[in-house]
Amino acid sequence: MKKAYTAPYIERNSAGNLNKYAHTTVVRHQDSIDNISIKSLVELGGSPLFVFSEKQIRRSYRRLQDTIRIHYPKAEVSWSYKTNYLGAICNIFHQEGAPAEVVSGMEYEMARRNGIPGERIYFNGPSKRKSELSLAISEGAMIHIDHLEEMYLIEKLADELGITPKVAIRMNMDTGISPLWTRFGFNYENGEAYRTVQRLVSGGKMQLMGLHTHIGTFILDPNAYYWAATKMLAFAQTIKDSFNVVLDYIDLGGGFASANTLIDQYTPGELASPSFEQYAEAIGIAFNASYYVKEHHPRLILETGRVLIDEAGYLIASVLGKKNLPTGERAVILDAGVNINITAWWYKQRVVPTKPFPGSYQNTVFYGPLCMNIDVIRSAMPFPDLYYGDTVLISPVGAYNVTQWMQFIEYRPNVCLISETGNVEIIREKEDITDIVAREYIPEHLRRI
Ligand SMILES: *Cc1c(COP(=O)(O)O)cnc(C)c1O
Repeated sequence: MKKAYTAPYIERNSAGNLNKYAHTTVVRHQDSIDNISIKSLVELGGSPLFVFSEKQIRRSYRRLQDTIRIHYPKAEVSWSYKTNYLGAICNIFHQEGAPAEVVSGMEYEMARRNGIPGERIYFNGPSKRKSELSLAISEGAMIHIDHLEEMYLIEKLADELGITPKVAIRMNMDTGISPLWTRFGFNYENGEAYRTVQRLVSGGKMQLMGLHTHIGTFILDPNAYYWAATKMLAFAQTIKDSFNVVLDYIDLGGGFASANTLIDQYTPGELASPSFEQYAEAIGIAFNASYYVKEHHPRLILETGRVLIDEAGYLIASVLGKKNLPTGERAVILDAGVNINITAWWYKQRVVPTKPFPGSYQNTVFYGPLCMNIDVIRSAMPFPDLYYGDTVLISPVGAYNVTQWMQFIEYRPNVCLISETGNVEIIREKEDITDIVAREYIPEHLRRI
């Protein structure tokens, strides 16, 4: 196909401003996503607009799965719902073969609604209610036990339902990183995890299928996974030796870092974040050195969220106004803020114009539409001048935003998906007043004002 003609343009390079990674402060514009122009996306879905790329999602999933299987063939990557639980997004992962990893009864319902059978759901989370456990157990889901009350409840349900529930123990341990996530599951080093397994086995009411951990999120040190895997496999051996129970799987959770740049991080994320290869190698070394693995070859499960979706998600926003701050910086007010892009609090997200801009740069702060001082999308960065109605492209925003977005003074916008063949479809429609008031009730005596 012949490409459409675009007029030549000059993009300004500011000389002498290379940082130590040879990155310049030049702001390159981006006028399309997967060859679909930003202009046509805004015509279809308005502004602000979330855009997801199916091609990028599938590519990331396959790359991660292939990479981990090079090191350990019996590996499987399940989809972490809370990272992004829009039905269309989940189903892309499910079409690729991913089971569901859920952390609440609500997410469990979502996975079932997407057609995932109970046996293909890993049910995590510290707050599973009795009714939710009852349903999940009767549908054969893998229950990852977080605390003792939950274990006792599962024993009771096993009797009530006349079923042997399939469970794993969530454990936490020192993997050399800080902060240590010790609030989830049972600690390994102090023997709590061991005593829990002892109690579980002596109860005789459940089938212990595996061990689970989720050591944290945005883990920048791949060695943490080496230590997690090594300790879990050692524990699996102890369980075999003490109780003669052989585990079906070792679940290492999620936590791989995306290419975003943390707010206080100097090195750009695309250089600082480990590659799939580095994580996979660290895990592979632990697995392939393990006697337990040679004897029993357990399945290796990952519950990767962020890194599989962050870079596949973009946010288009429009300029509503500008002002000059007393600091000499320019402020730009956008129609998208932390209400829908909450990860802007953690990351220096990439903000770029969507067409070439002539002229000089000025340090520019990007604010959102909220009447809150903390509504900052991006602190000052050199940027060309923008005008009312101009659009900017913010990325990566695919992880955790369309689940953690908040209902505060604004409607949530359209979310669209660019399919592999270049179709653009709205996968979540923007809200209106009926969505907001649908569940309200005004008592009789308050109806007339
Ligand atoms: C959030 C979560 C994940 C996914 O974590 P990422 O950092 O997004 O990869 C996986 N497992 C559990 C139990 C979680 O809570």
